[in-house]
Amino acid sequence: HKTPVTLLGLGDMGAALARTWLAAGHPLTVWNRTPSKAEPLQAYGARVAATPAEAVAASPLVIACLLDDASVEDALKDAELAGKDLVNLTTGTPGEGRARRGWAERRGARFLDGGIMAVPPMIGVPESGGYVFYSGSGALYEEHRATLSVPAGAVYAGEDAGHAALLDVALLSAMTGMFAGITHAFSLVRGEAGKEGEEGISLGEFGRLLADWLGAMSASTGEMAAQLESGDFTQGVVSNLAMMVQGNETLLRTAREQGVSTELLTPYTDLMRERLDAGHPDEGTAGTVDLLRR
Ligand code: NDP
Repeated sequence: HKTPVTLLGLGDMGAALARTWLAAGHPLTVWNRTPSKAEPLQAYGARVAATPAEAVAASPLVIACLLDDASVEDALKDAELAGKDLVNLTTGTPGEGRARRGWAERRGARFLDGGIMAVPPMIGVPESGGYVFYSGSGALYEEHRATLSVPAGAVYAGEDAGHAALLDVALLSAMTGMFAGITHAFSLVRGEAGKEGEEGISLGEFGRLLADWLGAMSASTGEMAAQLESGDFTQGVVSNLAMMVQGNETLLRTAREQGVSTELLTPYTDLMRERLDAGHPDEGTAGTVDLLRR
């Protein structure tokens, strides 16, 4: 017998989550602000609630997957949460996760915050590698671990309700920097708009080179973690800061030669130079981490 689930929010992500619980045989009650989005799920056997309060009343386990933290408060303001287990899969900040836990507990609910490390096509596809960080009530997590593992892998990140969001946003922030680098790289080789790349450079082939290179360079995350843990930022350095800052001058000159703006590169280059100028030529880049914490 499968735990009944209530799901609030049937956007792209919510709809993908809903199908997996239905397919796994969980009784599912759904609510969405715009009711028409519930119709396709009703055909698959979901019960459609007219209000969030009605939806919450239907199941012991309530999942919210709404736009942002404000919409969670908005949707749940009139619901009776006492005795419920509330899992918030809405992306938010660590502070919002902690505050939402306090808010839920004052209403008599247990609370778990979640950060989804997947896009909708990865939901319900175990081999995609998608997963969800959870943090908050460990008791809730243990009790519902099997149900929470239906849409994607589940990774528990501890009792601090802010940690799921912190890990989620840290990974997304690194992704943003990676996308910025990819943008700059394509800009260098693109050549004239509307044509293939610089004469003789295939953009498709360049995309494959870029993926291989980024994969190889991502191994440096382990090195940086070890340096930050030991406090010795010269430990195991393969590329020293003095060389890298010099190398960055070449990156900037090349951008200018190609008529490409340096606006995405300069902030990071400036940070590396600041650490070098403070007298750390033999380090790698770990010293820039604490420069940002100001
Ligand atoms: P969508 O924009 O597709 O859906 C947003 C949902 O929030 C809709 O159900 C919408 O209702 C509802 N909503 C917005 N404002 C309110 C409100 N004030 N009151 C009640 N309901 C409201 O977003 P997604 O489904 O893609 O994303 C949902 C959450 O999942 C977000 O926090 C997102 O960051 C997270 N997420 C999404 C990923 C993705 O790739 N899509 C990846 C990882 C996380 P209505 O239909 O009426 O507009």
